[in-house]
Amino acid sequence: MSFTRRNILQMVPAAAAMSLTPRGFAADTHHVVVVGGGFAGSTVAKYLRMWSNGGIAVTLVEPNTTHISCIMSNLVLNGQLKLPDLSFDYAALQSKYGVKVVKDRAQYIDGENQILQLESLEKISYDSLVVATGIQFDNIEGLDSRLTPHAWIAGKQTNLLRDQIGAMPNNGTFVMTIPEKPYRCPPGPYERACLVADILGRRSGVLQGTASPGDTPTVVVLDANDGIQAEKHTFERAFKELYGDIVEYIPNAHVTSVDSEDRVVHTSVGSWSGDVLNVIPRHGAPQLLVDSGITGVSRWAPVNPVTYGVLTAGFPGVYVIGDSQGTGQPKSGHMANAQAKVCADAIVRIAGGLSAETEERLDNITTNSACFSPITSDEASWLTAVFKYNRDSGKMGLVPGSLGESHNWNSENYQDMFAWSENLFADTFK
Ligand SMILES: Cc1cc2nc3c(=O)[nH]c(=O)nc-3n(C[C@H](O)[C@H](O)[C@H](O)COP(=O)(O)OP(=O)(O)OC[C@H]3O[C@@H](n4cnc5c(N)ncnc54)[C@H](O)[C@@H]3O)c2cc1C
Repeated sequence: MSFTRRNILQMVPAAAAMSLTPRGFAADTHHVVVVGGGFAGSTVAKYLRMWSNGGIAVTLVEPNTTHISCIMSNLVLNGQLKLPDLSFDYAALQSKYGVKVVKDRAQYIDGENQILQLESLEKISYDSLVVATGIQFDNIEGLDSRLTPHAWIAGKQTNLLRDQIGAMPNNGTFVMTIPEKPYRCPPGPYERACLVADILGRRSGVLQGTASPGDTPTVVVLDANDGIQAEKHTFERAFKELYGDIVEYIPNAHVTSVDSEDRVVHTSVGSWSGDVLNVIPRHGAPQLLVDSGITGVSRWAPVNPVTYGVLTAGFPGVYVIGDSQGTGQPKSGHMANAQAKVCADAIVRIAGGLSAETEERLDNITTNSACFSPITSDEASWLTAVFKYNRDSGKMGLVPGSLGESHNWNSENYQDMFAWSENLFADTFK
């Protein structure tokens, strides 16, 4: 299987066609509680209602009234987008699909009694519970995220980072760190490095060849991994050919501590100071999954990719999708949307008294991922991959030949990036 840009644009709705769900539910006999209204949670809530013909009652628990998309949020840094452009409320989920939305934060899962406890101390019982809470960050000694934003969960931190970059001097230094894999959006940090180099390089005149002597900015990229994690060839070329005077890339740099006041990052291979620090800490599954005992000794929730049901004993009817799950598939919003459909399909079947493990279904479980990366202010690259369930290993494996990438950046990809993201946003939230 090989991929083109056009295939990617069509991938999101195509994934929806996989469901062959039973019909004829007695109204509201099965109650699914979904925790988290991001890419995974909103998609699963919508498709559970659609594919059960409204027969499954769905309650979505989410503390925010809008979800701010991380996807495209690097374009807030250069002013091309604003947070409202990337903000999605839950009005369509409620009015169009009949999802009940509860504004609260989930605190604890009582797996034995099938009860979810909320921060408000309210308790909700469920037949099925889908946890889609994204990521949380490890603590780093000395890191104060009010001074040193990660901007890796979009929101106020994204604006703070934009403003800090805006206030940098022409010859300033931007220091960013990339956490150990797996982290959210494999090409995302390298894309950010390119965009920041583009902003600073244009402002100082370095990219136009008009900079005054001594006015060259620096973008230091401290990567905890042993090399570039996605679109290696593309980013290596961009760092060298476009931003060779600006970007300094250092692999195997593990952050040990941060001095946020004095703006210094200490790593296993040395210390760097900058005008702006963008430290992205290592990720793991959120506290709800840790405190409830689902992650156990793992960093991510162990699940069966046939249903996304939790493998930890004592949690019947509990599923984990999106960035929190630990199947090894890339952590992306496109992938979260695809996993949500596999999970919704499984729950609809199980609630309807059918098996989610028929021969036909096991042979057809696929998910896919796509990322477009802006490399300059008007050119982008893209990356895509398809995963398929392997019955021998019980795991999701990369479909041979499906790992596609543009190997280049251009303005046509840049335009397609907006079409692809609009498609994904609509399929998830509208
Ligand atoms: C800069 C950047 C660029 C990216 N670009 C791309 C891209 O081009 N393509 C792509 O596919 N992906 C991209 N991603 C990755 C993508 O954003 C994530 O993989 C995706 O958001 C994961 O979806 P999720 O539903 O698992 O988590 P999220 O989207 O983070 O949603 C989690 C939700 O859970 C809620 N929540 C958390 N805890 C609780 C709780 N205890 N109770 C109730 N609710 C809770 C949160 O409020 C949030 O709404 C990018 C990420 C970044 C940072």
